[in-house]
Amino acid sequence: MAMSVDTPVQYVKGVGPKLALVLRRKGIATIRDLIEFYPRTYEDRRAARNIASLKEGDFVGLKAQIARVQQIPIGKTSRKIYDIVVRDASGAIHCKFFRVPYKGYFERFKPGAEVRVVGKVINYRNQIQFHHPELSEEGQEQETDELIPVYSETEGLTSKKLHTMVRLAFEGVGFKPGQKEDPFEELPDWVRKKFSLASKGDSLYQLHFPNIQHAADYLERKTAAHHRIIFDEFFMLEMILASRKKGLSDQNAFPISLNDTWEDLLKKSLPFELTTAQKNVLLDIKKDIQKKSPMNRLVQGDVGSGKTVVALIAALHAISSGMQVAMMAPTEILAQQHLKNAKKFLEPLNIKVELLTGSQKTAEKQKVLEKIQSGEVQFIVGTHALIQETVQFHKLGLVVVDEQHRFGVEQRSVLRKKGQSPHFLLMTATPIPRSLAMTVYGDLDVSAINEMPQGRQAIVTRLTYQSKRAQVIGFVKEHLEKGRQAYIIFPLVEESEKIDLKSAMTEFEKLKVDFQQFRVGLLHGRMKAEDKDAVMLDFRDHKLDVLVSTTVIEVGVDVPNANIMWIEHAERFGLAQLHQLRGRVGRGEHKSYCVLMMGFAKSPEAVERVSFLEKTNDGFKISEFDLELRGPGEFLGVRQSGMPGFKLANLVRDIPILEQARSAALELFDRDPKLKEKYHQDLKTKMAAQESNLS
Ligand code: ADP
Ligand code: MG
Repeated sequence: MAMSVDTPVQYVKGVGPKLALVLRRKGIATIRDLIEFYPRTYEDRRAARNIASLKEGDFVGLKAQIARVQQIPIGKTSRKIYDIVVRDASGAIHCKFFRVPYKGYFERFKPGAEVRVVGKVINYRNQIQFHHPELSEEGQEQETDELIPVYSETEGLTSKKLHTMVRLAFEGVGFKPGQKEDPFEELPDWVRKKFSLASKGDSLYQLHFPNIQHAADYLERKTAAHHRIIFDEFFMLEMILASRKKGLSDQNAFPISLNDTWEDLLKKSLPFELTTAQKNVLLDIKKDIQKKSPMNRLVQGDVGSGKTVVALIAALHAISSGMQVAMMAPTEILAQQHLKNAKKFLEPLNIKVELLTGSQKTAEKQKVLEKIQSGEVQFIVGTHALIQETVQFHKLGLVVVDEQHRFGVEQRSVLRKKGQSPHFLLMTATPIPRSLAMTVYGDLDVSAINEMPQGRQAIVTRLTYQSKRAQVIGFVKEHLEKGRQAYIIFPLVEESEKIDLKSAMTEFEKLKVDFQQFRVGLLHGRMKAEDKDAVMLDFRDHKLDVLVSTTVIEVGVDVPNANIMWIEHAERFGLAQLHQLRGRVGRGEHKSYCVLMMGFAKSPEAVERVSFLEKTNDGFKISEFDLELRGPGEFLGVRQSGMPGFKLANLVRDIPILEQARSAALELFDRDPKLKEKYHQDLKTKMAAQESNLS
């Protein structure tokens, strides 16, 4: 039977229904899927070495014998580290696994068995180790001078077997490297030429049948073949984003005319001058909102960089043009704070400001809803309550979403539908690495407030351990005695909220004893809004010395007298979140400190990750590091899971290729906005298929 790249994989010689099922588990259904299942890495058989000669950073394969297989519990959790010690005549080395590759994986390895170990040599606390190496029982393998592809294995399917299947798949579709007819090619010629891309078929082939001459490039994914495939991974995504962006710019929004008099009045009422960065971002926004197509702009600025005032100025222009502005914040406390600011700066201009939150009484809410619908109120601050069906605007012209990463894409689109394509201003204190901004947020325009108001101090950050608790308490007390205040933060992770809450309460009781000569308050998400506010106000007014809190204060009020941020279980937070929490201090004239207290369940990786905060206060550096470490999915958190999984592309390493793919996608839409040309039509079909996998 003649096979095409779309033929089910079970028709490949030697596969059959049973193996096809195994492949299914890996997401491989067609020949194309199989061929796009790339080697995880490569093993340079020339470099086979003995254990004693290994150095940090080496990528090697070697023959060894299993000496010991051990499970080590991590702290008090149910998680385990698997430790396999292998040895040869020259020495021994630990292979550590922080997760189980598949059920029964470790049972395969019995002491005394011969194995091949392939992986990168890591230095952990001055001891060289492998972390997650490829281990296989094929210890009898001959030394050859080949570069062997290493596929991630699954039960019943070895790397070697996979490689054979890939070869048969290429044979099945009758593809030979270098041939003119390319059944895999999907890019229009002009894109390939413009970016000097290798042909797709050849690139795929070379990934599976590497050339030993370029061993180093293969290991670093730097060959022309890698470049081509990585380009394709980015290109499809950028096409989807470019088409979304185009769809949006085709919509009609109300153009806003600027009111300089009001802007001057508001600026004069501020107790400070805008920073240059704030002014520049404001210019971007003002340019956007005067257009007939809706603004869709993300403003990123580190905690405390002054995003709120920029949003308020944008709002006054919209309101002066006869429109309503909605400002959505992720928490009640934050909405309250915005309400206060809006009242202070907008009411003098005769702008009516109202609050809408879930905790308001029905009657009160009803009144606000009526005012929103009649247009009597022009600036509405709220929480998620704003996106409820009952909320109907009179004429919604601008939406501001604060801490936008806390909201999902759907929530934004609900708000979008509450107006006639309102302008959108998204704000975030999580600096998004450029690569992510071009991918997940590729349909947005991005501005950065990359400068802090003057007089902010660097915060001294230290990672510490439970064994040092007494010292930390002593340190905090010293500062409290001098009249300062401190935050102590506990994590509250959604899936185990109840347990966490209980432990926060228990800790609170303990801390009350530790700090018995001081006033200690508790704040958590389950408290009623009034109670939360009361506690927060007490802390602000220095009626409390210590505020024990869950992360509800993460985006919260400004208390310049507080100079210590103590974070418990720091390992359970993302770096960006830790950085945001840290930004709660260092806002006054006092030298400020951030104490990152690790829990018992810390792993070596967590220590390394968290300790990065000791090294820098730069939010961009932190988020880039976080992205590199955790990958885009985790970096963005569950709420923003619209991220495609890349097989080869790496958002940190491959930024230049990403930029090429982005410019190719944008140019393609310029050349052929409706994607009518033949090659473009095929892309359109493929895009539609992929888009349904995205959010
Ligand atoms: P964020 O960007 O984290 O939302 P805010 O808008 O809450 O920051 O601003 C943080 C604090 O800095 C507020 O007290 C605000 O009044 C103040 N602020 C804003 N802009 C400036 C500026 N240009 N100079 C001095 N202080 C400023
Ligand atoms: Mg803010």
